[in-house]
Amino acid sequence: MARKIERISTLFQPLKVIPKNATLKGDNLLSNSQKLMLENGIIRQSGNGMFHILPLGMKALEKLIKLVDKEMAKLNAQKVLLPALTDAKLWIKSGRWQTAGAELFKMKDRHSKEYILSPTHEEAIAALVASISPVSHHKLPIRMYQISSKFRDEKKSRFGMIRGKEFIMKDLYTFDQTLPAAKNTYAEVCQAYDKIFGAIGVSYAKVIGDNGIMGGSLSHEYHFLTKIGEDSLMLCDTCKYGANKEVFEGENCPSCKNGKIQEKHGIEVGHTFVLGSSYSAPLDATFMDSDGKANPLEMGSYGLGMTRILAAAIESLSPADEIRWPLVLTPYTVCIITPKDGSKEEAASQTAYKLYNDLNSINSLRGDVIIDDRGSLTIGKRVLDARKTGYPFIIVVGKKSLLADPLFEVFDVFKSECLDLRLPDLMDFISEIVSPRNANKWKAAVPG
Ligand SMILES: [Zn+2]
Repeated sequence: MARKIERISTLFQPLKVIPKNATLKGDNLLSNSQKLMLENGIIRQSGNGMFHILPLGMKALEKLIKLVDKEMAKLNAQKVLLPALTDAKLWIKSGRWQTAGAELFKMKDRHSKEYILSPTHEEAIAALVASISPVSHHKLPIRMYQISSKFRDEKKSRFGMIRGKEFIMKDLYTFDQTLPAAKNTYAEVCQAYDKIFGAIGVSYAKVIGDNGIMGGSLSHEYHFLTKIGEDSLMLCDTCKYGANKEVFEGENCPSCKNGKIQEKHGIEVGHTFVLGSSYSAPLDATFMDSDGKANPLEMGSYGLGMTRILAAAIESLSPADEIRWPLVLTPYTVCIITPKDGSKEEAASQTAYKLYNDLNSINSLRGDVIIDDRGSLTIGKRVLDARKTGYPFIIVVGKKSLLADPLFEVFDVFKSECLDLRLPDLMDFISEIVSPRNANKWKAAVPG
């Protein structure tokens, strides 16, 4: 069966005009990524700190989910989905009901039973494991993750999906027998995070984190470096040492001793914790050791702010007026522009659709090509739109495609190059770029 053609003429992409100097809108401080995502119909605001993710935004989010799922599978982490509502009793047991503060959404059902709209699920997952406790030590480690909506009653929502009231997070929870085993798990997850952030390609820093309300003994934060970042990071210019300013002590680098410390701004996009037994003990998540004794499990918690990663990546990569996606997350990698209606080259329309099918036959490009069939618009206008939306490769089927030896105009947006290619060369060029073995080149192609 023929695959559905992905067309811009039928895409739900409501554009929005935002005045040039708009930076403040009530409490809602506007960032470049937010402006670009709203203007180009990637997201739409539904209320203060709340956003609809539109089809192009979903395409990007789904690519990110796929990337994360792949790395989670390598860790033998299993995907689950916990309810967004968590019984208040669990948070009372862990002590966070009192300490979490005003950012926690608390609510009651019709029977006056209290719940929270969960910002995170340590209690809920500890209670799940407690319900089958004590777990046999043969069953350990247990690693479970979910990708779901989380909620935070932000005093000041700002920067669009970078700081909203509702956001999508990947949260992984791990259960080990001993603290050393939990630390091994920690190292494995950190490696997976490095792979995920490496593939995204935005420059990031891993720093010693602030445990905040989480408790636990060891934590790191992953940040995208950008000037609107609300966290101050202290980074060594010589070695890889970095710490959140909140936990940084001393003037010199504590790791290499002689490096200079520089302060940079970051947006936190990931956080890792060794929690020890601070949740498993009060909630009775235990395992049976070889002597038949029940002990609390050693827990770890690992978050990735999925919607925040998308927005923060755009924030750090994009110039003022065009979206730049990380290549692995762009909603569509290739945009084909058809000839203008009524033009001499209109006869080449067929060629555009044939090219669409040819490109879709490349395995790693299936479903990743969109055709701008809005033939009433000039090619120039559509190239501008494609650049603004952030498609990294734009192929124009224009006059030259009518030559005896047809040529296609290929815009490589990241490299600011325009090439005239014959079909076989075009196929080679694109296949090479999207080939999985060139994943590292893709990474290198992210604009600085
Ligand atoms: Zn250093």
